[in-house]
Amino acid sequence: MKNGDKVKAILEWQHSDMHPLTCDNCREKLYPMINDNLEIILACDCGYTQEIIPEVIYKRYKDMREN
Ligand SMILES: [Zn+2]
Repeated sequence: MKNGDKVKAILEWQHSDMHPLTCDNCREKLYPMINDNLEIILACDCGYTQEIIPEVIYKRYKDMREN
């Protein structure tokens, strides 16, 4: 999946009625960010980052475009 699609998938998930991914520190909603390896990760304004993105987010994005 291209990074642009990953960003869109994460943003759609975070603004859908699915349970949003939140920061372990401050409980704010995480947002997509690109890291030094040009990989999409999740980040929070407090400095928290999370590299593991649940596959279900990308699956939902693909499913919604196929159906
Ligand atoms: Zn935070």
